[in-house]
Amino acid sequence: MRKLIIAIDGPVGSGKSTLARRVAALLGYLYIDTGAMYRSVALKAARCGVSLDAADQLAALAGETRIDLRQLAGATEGTQQVLLDGEDVTALIRTPEVAQAASKVALVPGVRKVLVAEQRRAGERGGVVMEGRDIGSVVFPEAQLKIFLTASPEIRADRRWREHQQKGDAIDLARTLEEIHERDRRDRERTNSPLVKAKDAVVVDSTAMEPEEVARLVVMLAKEHASANTSETLRHNR
Ligand code: C5P
Repeated sequence: MRKLIIAIDGPVGSGKSTLARRVAALLGYLYIDTGAMYRSVALKAARCGVSLDAADQLAALAGETRIDLRQLAGATEGTQQVLLDGEDVTALIRTPEVAQAASKVALVPGVRKVLVAEQRRAGERGGVVMEGRDIGSVVFPEAQLKIFLTASPEIRADRRWREHQQKGDAIDLARTLEEIHERDRRDRERTNSPLVKAKDAVVVDSTAMEPEEVARLVVMLAKEHASANTSETLRHNR
C-alpha cells in the first residue's frame, strides 16, 4: 500500500499530538511534531537574548539552528525526542512560557520559511504523520489525508491543565484557558500561514470522543485513502 502524508492541524489542546503519535504507531509511520520546532527556536531566542520583536534576528537565528526530531526506539507509541543544536530539550520546551514565546516566534515569516523547508524535507517521501497549524494548508497542500482536529476551548484548557498537573507543575485552570484563547487568537489572526482548515480537510471534533476512537477513525480513513491511491496508480500503469 502506498505510504501517505497525513496532515493533522488544529488549535492548542485539541489532541493533535496524542492523535498523531497513535496514528503513526498504528501505521508504522514517522511522527513529526512541528510545534516542537517553533518552541525550540523560541527557547534558543530566550537563551541568546534575542527579542521576540526582532524579526530579522529571529529569522537569522532559525537559519543557524539545528533541530533534530528523533523517534525513540522501543519507547511507547513513537515518543519524540527534540534536540536543539545537539542538546536534549524535550522537557524544557514544554513550559507555558515557551509555548507563548513560540506563538510569537511563529509570526515571523523568515522563521516560518526556514522551518517549513525543513518540514518538507522531512516528510517528502511519505509515510509520515505531521502535526501543526499549517501542514494541510501550506507545508503539504498535496497531503493525501488532512485532518482538522477541534474541541471546545474549555475541554482543551482542561486537557492542558491535567497534563501540567501530571508533571507536577502548579498552574491555574482559568489562566490556562486565558492562555489558550490568547494563542488561538495569535495563530488564527496572523497574516502569514494562519491556522485555517484546508478546504479538503476532514473536520473531527474530539470534545466527546476518546483518543483511541479518534485514532481508529483516522487510521480507517488513511487505509481508505492508501488503497484508493494504489488502485488509481494501478489503473494509470495499465
Ligand atoms: O503545537 P504547539 O502548541 O507545540 O505549537 C507551539 C506554537 O507554535 C503554536 O502556538 C503556534 O503558534 C506555532 N506553530 C505554528 N505552526 C505550526 C506548529 C506550531 O505556527 N505548524
